[in-house]
Amino acid sequence: MADVWQTPLFRALEEPATRLVGDKTGKAFEALGIRTVHDVLRHLPRHLMSGTETTDLSQLMDDYRRGTSDDYVAVVARVASMRQKGDPPRLRLEVRLTDGTGHLDVTFFGKKHVIDYWQKLLSLPGRGIFAGKLSSFRDSPQLAHPAFVIETAKGLVGSAESQRVARQVTRSSYVGLYPQSAKLPTWTISECAELAIEHIAGLEDAMPEWVRDEADVVDFEAACRAVHIPTSREEHAAGRRRLIFDEAFATQVAMAYRRQDARLHRAHAWTRRTGGLLDAFDERLPFPLTDQQVAVSDELFADLARTRPMQRLLQGEVGSGKTVVALRAMLTVVDGGGQAVLLAPTEVLAQQHAASVRALLGDLGAGATLGAPEQATDVVLLTGSTPAAQRREVLDRIASGEAGIVIGTHALLERRVEFAELGLVVVDEQHRFGVEQRNALGSRGDQHPHVLVMTATPIPRSVAMTVFGDLEVSTITELPLGRADVSTTVVDQVARPAWVERAWQRVAEEAAEGRQSFVITPRIGAKDEAPGASVEETYARLSAGPLAGLRVGMLHGRLPADEKADVMRRFAAGELDVLVATTVVEVGVDVPNATMMVVCDAESFGISQLHQLRGRIGRGSHPGVCLLLTSAAAGTSARDRLDAVASTRDGFVLSEVDLAQRREGDVLGRSQAGGRSSLRLLRVLDHAEDIALARSLAEKVVERDPELCDPGVRDYVTQVEQLAEGEWQEAT
Ligand code: ADP
Ligand code: MG
Repeated sequence: MADVWQTPLFRALEEPATRLVGDKTGKAFEALGIRTVHDVLRHLPRHLMSGTETTDLSQLMDDYRRGTSDDYVAVVARVASMRQKGDPPRLRLEVRLTDGTGHLDVTFFGKKHVIDYWQKLLSLPGRGIFAGKLSSFRDSPQLAHPAFVIETAKGLVGSAESQRVARQVTRSSYVGLYPQSAKLPTWTISECAELAIEHIAGLEDAMPEWVRDEADVVDFEAACRAVHIPTSREEHAAGRRRLIFDEAFATQVAMAYRRQDARLHRAHAWTRRTGGLLDAFDERLPFPLTDQQVAVSDELFADLARTRPMQRLLQGEVGSGKTVVALRAMLTVVDGGGQAVLLAPTEVLAQQHAASVRALLGDLGAGATLGAPEQATDVVLLTGSTPAAQRREVLDRIASGEAGIVIGTHALLERRVEFAELGLVVVDEQHRFGVEQRNALGSRGDQHPHVLVMTATPIPRSVAMTVFGDLEVSTITELPLGRADVSTTVVDQVARPAWVERAWQRVAEEAAEGRQSFVITPRIGAKDEAPGASVEETYARLSAGPLAGLRVGMLHGRLPADEKADVMRRFAAGELDVLVATTVVEVGVDVPNATMMVVCDAESFGISQLHQLRGRIGRGSHPGVCLLLTSAAAGTSARDRLDAVASTRDGFVLSEVDLAQRREGDVLGRSQAGGRSSLRLLRVLDHAEDIALARSLAEKVVERDPELCDPGVRDYVTQVEQLAEGEWQEAT
């Protein structure tokens, strides 16, 4: 691994942090997702403390009440009052801090002489920096035993850390306050950042000088010094901008080279054939296609007819009829003698897809069986749990080309599957794959299959451009006619227990009308870490109580695959009235007879997740009811999220709300938000300008250096590719 890096700078950056800071501190860093020297350098102070700045304690108090405050905080404040309590030898020192906007209580425990010593230090005139874990005492936040220093006219005095802090302060006029953890107080992080800077000092910047000039950013080492040990706010900001630009440049330059590569890729051109499978399918379709379905289909047909591989993202609401559109493209390929693959993110979904594709095709998907129409092809399903014997048979039919349509989980990509002639790969609900991975399946030399990625998670344009700069985007915004209304209500389960009772009654009424309901919980079992109701408890409680006498089933990810499939089948067939489930039913499940959904502890879910969940109902002609049960109080951000979901069914509106609330590119999935560092600072909404600038510079880089000879640029590209690979491994 070490020798993939061409420049001394990247070699130094990619070294494990433990080499600098030792195993113990290294472990503590790892808990924050920080593994390499690069990660340490990119872990930036959240606040800069200068001579004029104070921490806003009233804000801290607000955040605490909303449940959004950090666990570990560093505050700048004065001592307002102080008193000793308790009986010797164990005493308690209770301190109240203030910064003029609010107050915070601090407690120290210890023997008399120790407590006296703390009290003396805390009596010094001047403000202090207090850093520690925020805990809860009688419903108020407090700091127990924080590390602290007091800023006096003679310098910083205080507990053991004071010397270290003093050094930091004398070196620059600002102290950075970092997001910290129990084992990593802010001053330790600051010291490690300095070690990391020394580690890369004097190494040449990997970003070409002309790029830095045109982008007007400082060099890398200067940027690191500027963010961690700044002498002014402007300097800090300039350093930050370079580190942000670094990320934009890395992704854009990687994409620019991919685009160049893609220009060399060839694909088989599939033109529409009349009188084939597609025409037969269209003839049997029980409904007319919507205008948008027709328009998007035409885009796909045009793409497929080219010798350049299609790279298209199809986004559309749940139930907007994407699958039908994708299937028409797949049939075009089969008509031309090729094969098409449909990849689903989970086993349950792959099975559902197989069932609905088979249902839509009827005997057109029955293969070369007696009495089947001559155009018929074979639809096969291949997942991780396909038994070995059956698997061999399926693989044979794929290799011989008998199977025109292959449906499976992403696990398909991991194994070697031989195709006779793979023409099209459709990837459902999984937009995180790098192009390399999407292309891996069925590629032979320069010859690649066409690729269509489908998603019901609406992706704001800015995000699409940053991350999918190499994909064309098609969008379906209208739902097929005759789709029923779904009304959504937020139910405060603490203030209105009677409404919760009423909800279960309503479920029973729906069942009496022959309709079905979902009950969704955030958790599987009682012992799981996550908060909120568990599916097992809820199932037991409802079937013994409010829903006794109804046919209730349970579905979650830990059930064996065949049991999951069986429960889903029974629910789809109307053999169950109620399905108590986790988010396993999130995407793609299609039961038009389901009219009601009750989401327990709805605050545990994100906006897009709730939107996806709600998409499971109102898919038929009967109006739907969605109840979001919550104990989140009005005015909290969790409650705001639920109200937003209740106010609209427009996924694009909700995705903007979601993004604005998080201010993060987290829509891309969790690996971008946490863990990996490469896209840690870049926020697609805030940095649209720098992203556009990076994109145009990346084009110039490729023009000047089409063979990717520049070792620095090469390192940037490698870094992004490793990130994509990390996501890839996480997703499969
Ligand atoms: P998506 O994949 O976008 O969630 P599907 O393709 O699964 O949506 O379609 C959802 C449901 O709507 C399916 O039962 C499908 O047969 C049906 N459907 C699709 N297109 C139409 C249409 N034009 N008119 C009526 N029903 C449609
Ligand atoms: Mg679908």
